[in-house]
Amino acid sequence: MKIICIGRNYTKHIEELQNEKPTEPVIFLKPDSAILAKKMPFFIPAFAEGIHYEVEILVKINKVGKHIEQKFAHKYYDEIGLGIDFTERTLQSKLKAKGLPWEKAKAFDGSAVIGDFYPKTDFDLSGIKFQLIINGKTVQDGNSKFMLWQIDELISYVSQFFTLKKGDVIFTGTPAGVGQVHPDDILVGVLEGNTAFELKIK
Ligand code: ZN
Repeated sequence: MKIICIGRNYTKHIEELQNEKPTEPVIFLKPDSAILAKKMPFFIPAFAEGIHYEVEILVKINKVGKHIEQKFAHKYYDEIGLGIDFTERTLQSKLKAKGLPWEKAKAFDGSAVIGDFYPKTDFDLSGIKFQLIINGKTVQDGNSKFMLWQIDELISYVSQFFTLKKGDVIFTGTPAGVGQVHPDDILVGVLEGNTAFELKIK
């Protein structure tokens, strides 16, 4: 399986990183080796200067598809989840400044937290609420209605470049409020009131 991530999908997050607003979705990939094993803590990698959390709504693809029209995109997913796109922000900023690929900052081992999935019929897809809580404090409070590109648009766009396969996961971008993690932090992801993941930083 592959992990397809969308960058810069929420205006307020674009502003906090002082990025340019894109005219089309920003896409990058994570390999399957980036997935943090369930119930495992996240170990801050030795190379890291500053790891940022980014909580994101996840979409699990349920069948193979290419050049998917937006009006048919809803047929390609049944489940919505929540996860974290861990990012080495210092390194990413350096790579971005040089126009280099982000993989070292975004695709390292453990950088993809994939929490629980729920049937999409549990949600009002026009406004899915989600939060990231660290040590009991809400640090990111998102709502999918503020995405620049909604799930169906993303599936259609991404499938122009990559054949989507059953089991692939799309990370749909993070809202404002990103910040650094520290050893002993406890991160809890909440998707419409459901605890989708809980993990410790080491
Ligand atoms: Zn992200």
